[in-house]
Amino acid sequence: MGNLLEGKKILVMGAANRRSIAWGCASVMQEQGAQLIYTYQNERLKKSLLKLVGDEERLVECDVSSDESIQAAFSIVKEGFGTIDGIVHAIAFAPKQELEGNILNSTRAGFAQALDVSSYSFLAVAKFAVEKELLNENASLATLTYMGSTRAIPSYNTMGIAKAALEAEMRYMARDLGAQGIRVNAISAGAVKTLAVTGIKDHSKLLDMSQNRAVDCVSVTTSQIGGMCAFLMSDLSTGVVGDVLYVDKGVHLI
Ligand code: NAD
Repeated sequence: MGNLLEGKKILVMGAANRRSIAWGCASVMQEQGAQLIYTYQNERLKKSLLKLVGDEERLVECDVSSDESIQAAFSIVKEGFGTIDGIVHAIAFAPKQELEGNILNSTRAGFAQALDVSSYSFLAVAKFAVEKELLNENASLATLTYMGSTRAIPSYNTMGIAKAALEAEMRYMARDLGAQGIRVNAISAGAVKTLAVTGIKDHSKLLDMSQNRAVDCVSVTTSQIGGMCAFLMSDLSTGVVGDVLYVDKGVHLI
């Protein structure tokens, strides 16, 4: 327990279940005194999130592939909670054929969908948050990325390209939102077994490879990733802007 985030309202986007990185982030931020609001993708995912959060008032539907859905969600957030201090974007999706074998399996439609949901959506979220005047001064935005953005990881394929786009986008957003006192960063997390990861062909090999390359051969946990998230949402990180911060127990070094 601590009070790093006392008085802060943070919107958490992408908690599907207790294994989600977003849930790890939420748990640490709650321990640090934040007031949390959550978005869920659809009714099916609402059920599992409600079981975790236990308070329907704090849950808002938002499908990030739709501008209208993001706008509607942010209106509800603003009406219900007023302005907020941060947004955690922990969302990604690619169709199955984009996550196996050869990169030439990629299709125009699959590629577009992966980049829309996994990259563009972070920009759309920032755009509508600013448009709706949802963010307080000194607000912090953070997204989740993976080292497949800079390395050719087996089967990660189109998602690696989406993460490269996301990281570049984060830097441009950091530049342009920085002028308004809003900072933007990305957390590059080590591999963790979540719903999203199980969509990658041979994901258990990816998880094993990652564990073996961790400096102590123990995989990173969602709470450890959550620790970085809490720091980025807190006033301790006001000088950290436009950065990719690795929380992977050193896997990216090896
Ligand atoms: P997860 O499956 O728990 O979370 C993914 C979330 O994305 C889900 O809540 C899902 O509902 C949401 N989502 C997908 N399409 C959406 C849409 N159209 N609108 C709204 N929400 C949508 O998996 P996770 O691993 O916790 O993923 C969170 C983030 O962390 C992703 O960006 C992922 O790429 C990233 N990441 C994961 C790992 C890992 O090893 N698990 C490593 C590095 C980065």
